[in-house]
Order: sequence, then structure tokens, then C-alpha cells
Amino acid sequence: MLQGKTALVTGASRGIGRAIALELAHQGADVAIVYAGNEQKARETQAQIQAMGRKAEIYCCNVADFDATKQLVDGVLEDFGGIDILVNNAGIVKDGMVLSMKEADFNQVIDTNLKGAFHMIKHTYSHFMRKRAGRIINITSVIGLSGNAGQANYASSKAGLIGLTKSVAKELGARGVTCNAVAPGYIATEMTDALSDKIKDAMKAAIPMRKPGDPEDVAKAVAFLASDSARYITGEVLRVDGGLAM
Ligand code: NDP
Repeated sequence: MLQGKTALVTGASRGIGRAIALELAHQGADVAIVYAGNEQKARETQAQIQAMGRKAEIYCCNVADFDATKQLVDGVLEDFGGIDILVNNAGIVKDGMVLSMKEADFNQVIDTNLKGAFHMIKHTYSHFMRKRAGRIINITSVIGLSGNAGQANYASSKAGLIGLTKSVAKELGARGVTCNAVAPGYIATEMTDALSDKIKDAMKAAIPMRKPGDPEDVAKAVAFLASDSARYITGEVLRVDGGLAM
């Protein structure tokens, strides 16, 4: 259980991030909820966590902004007195074939999905080092393992996250801090709702379990990696994909 722990979850206003925030709170953690602009959704997550008797605060922050993430981490440390679990979940897609992909769209996806996680880890690094404890969990994707036509920017960001995860695991392991990645497959959220029925059907057909996962399936894996049960697991990439990327 996670009583007395503080979790910071980016992209916790909706989708997988909200499910992670709720599951960590359900297990006893207080939660700092980070969102990009959707304040109403962030407040809904906050209210749900407060209803469980846990502390929850919301923070509007663009994780792609280095200085803003520094302010965010300083603010959370002041409000909660520490951070035990960092979940880098915020992510976006800007799909297109390389031939037509704008440089700005490549950069925005890398800046949010990959550099965003780097910013958050960099700003919490010395805090975790001093504590000699901590859990960092990065939400990558099976697309980071396999690549995908039309998602060169997204696949690059998610593959980069795996390299970041393993490097940080090696740097901080001796300090008792673990760093792992969770790689979801096709999960039913607003991000995947935007796909055409044809693509959704093709994805379902490719999944051995023949159905999309729920955000809660990812949240359970994150809660495990955040728990004491996972204290000797670091640098791992845990797929939550119904077998898709086997
Ligand atoms: P959603 O689009 O449903 O939610 C995205 C979340 O990220 C929102 O909370 C959004 O905040 C936040 N966000 C977006 N950009 C930023 C930013 N620049 N700074 C801070 N927060 C930001 O996505 P999902 O829940 O589907 O995905 C969550 C993560 O899981 C992503 O990293 C995604 O790549 C990954 N993933 C998802 C899969 C899926 O099938 N859904 C599969 C594999 C991986 P706001 O509400 O304020 O806009």
C-alpha cells in the first residue's frame, strides 16, 4: 500500500493518467495532478481523489517547458513536503508520414513525450538522490518497441523514453531509486477514440486478446511498479498490451 506517499502524475486530467492518479490514491497515496489546459477535467480527478480522503492538488504546466517544470516541481515539493513517485504520463500524437510531416510536429511530440519526461526527472533527481528512495515510472508505448508507419515522431519519442528509463535506472539504482517504463498497447481513451473504425478494427484483430485495454489496466501495472512489491525491479519495460507486441 502507498499510505504516506506522494505521487506526481503528469497528464492526470483524463485518460490513462487519470486512471493512474485514481489507482495510486486508492492504494493510499496523495497525488499532485498535472494537466496542460483542461482544468475542468483536472478538477474532476482532484474531486475523485479527495472523495477517497486523500490530498490532491492540480497544477497547470506544459511539460515541454523546462523552466515551467522546474517551478512545478518546486511547487509540489512545497505543497506536499516531498515526492515519492513520479509518473511521466503526459503525451501527444501528431501523426503523418515522414514525407509530409512538418518539422514542428516532429519537435512538438519529442518535446512533450520525451523531453517532458527528461525535464521532470532532472528537476526531481536531487530530491530522489537525497531521499535515497523513489519510484520513477515512464509511460512509453509498444510503438516505441516496434515503430509504426505514420508515427515516426511518436515512435522516436517513445523509443527514446525507453533509453531514458534504462539510463536513469543505472544512474540512480545505487541510491535506491527505481526507474521503469510501462508500454501500453491499444488502450481506449480520447487519444485512440480519434482513430478511424478501420484502424481500430485492424488493431483489435492484431491483439491476441482481441480487444483494447482499459486505462485501469495500465494503472494497475504502474501501481505495482510504485509499490514495495517491485522494490528490486528497475530498468524494466512492462508491456500492458493484451499480447500485441509479443
Ligand atoms: P489523452 O490524450 O487521453 O490524455 C493526455 C493527457 O496528457 C491529458 O491529461 C493532457 O492534459 C496531458 N498533456 C498533453 N500534453 C501535455 C503537456 N504538454 N504538458 C502537460 N500535460 C500534457 O492520452 P492517453 O491517456 O491515451 O495517453 C496517456 C499516455 O499513454 C501518453 O503518453 C500516451 O502516449 C501513452 N499511450 C497511450 C496509448 C493509448 O492507446 N491510449 C497507448 C500507448 C501509450 P489536458 O487534459 O490538460 O490536455
